[in-house]
Amino acid sequence: MIDGIEIIDGHMHIFTSKLTERVKARVKEKGPEYEKAFGTWQEGFRRKYNTGFSEENDDPLEKIATDWCAELDRCGLDKALFIGLYPEEDELTDFIAAGKGRFTGFCTVDPLDPRAPELLRKRVKEEGYAGLKLYPPTQCFLPSDRAVYPLYEEAEALSIPIMFHLGITLSYDTDLRYADPLELHPVLRDFPEVNIIVPHFGSGYFRELLFLAYHVNNLYVDTSGTNVWVKYLPYQLELSEVFVRALDIFGPERIIFGTDSRMLTRGYREGILKDQLGILRESGLKSEELSLIMAGNISRLTGI
Ligand SMILES: [Zn+2]
Repeated sequence: MIDGIEIIDGHMHIFTSKLTERVKARVKEKGPEYEKAFGTWQEGFRRKYNTGFSEENDDPLEKIATDWCAELDRCGLDKALFIGLYPEEDELTDFIAAGKGRFTGFCTVDPLDPRAPELLRKRVKEEGYAGLKLYPPTQCFLPSDRAVYPLYEEAEALSIPIMFHLGITLSYDTDLRYADPLELHPVLRDFPEVNIIVPHFGSGYFRELLFLAYHVNNLYVDTSGTNVWVKYLPYQLELSEVFVRALDIFGPERIIFGTDSRMLTRGYREGILKDQLGILRESGLKSEELSLIMAGNISRLTGI
């Protein structure tokens, strides 16, 4: 709680040594040419943005969970939602279980794998996941592809939300041809009962999200990350202005707070929490509206 307001971070990850190994193995699998190009890209990215993609954390998952709980306590957070990065990521399940009720999770699957609906059902029913995360620009699929509809049908049957990362992203495999949120329009229309979250205000495709919001009522945005995308627009746009537009069009019922915190060694991204809370406090929201953004909406969607 911060000043009596419950805070749930609706967008976090865990980075572990196992995850780093998994990334390395995936790169190796693709052959020496890919490996070389990936290395060059990674180095360039690190230099340009001073950010890493992994961290070496060999601690047992129970310790990582305890440490994250302490970090949440330090920053005044109540709970957090952790999002999976790979379909085979079983360690996230154990990590969430070790969070003693303070964590929930979104799993991910390969949307074009015919077994994806079955895996999703298992993750939700047996392992307690509260939602699904899909990543069109790195998984290279179009959300409107009918081949993915059985997965949406399963999400609908399970009454879980789906998060679609669209727009620019931190990955060598990104293909921006799959990044356009307008691709979601048929899905939003055909599955009006499925709540769809697009993180980071659409990572550059904010305008498209606003247009979609004109047509549908089941689209949400999350506020997470550095929102560095505003720098890549051909005009000046401050994050505070993004919030004003989002509040006007989506309303406080369809905005979800998050930071995209991921590296324990760097700690919880408290600066993002403070900045966004500051912007929201100055926006003239009623306290119950602020509470929806900071915790109520993600709690309603996931049951956390
Ligand atoms: Zn993320």
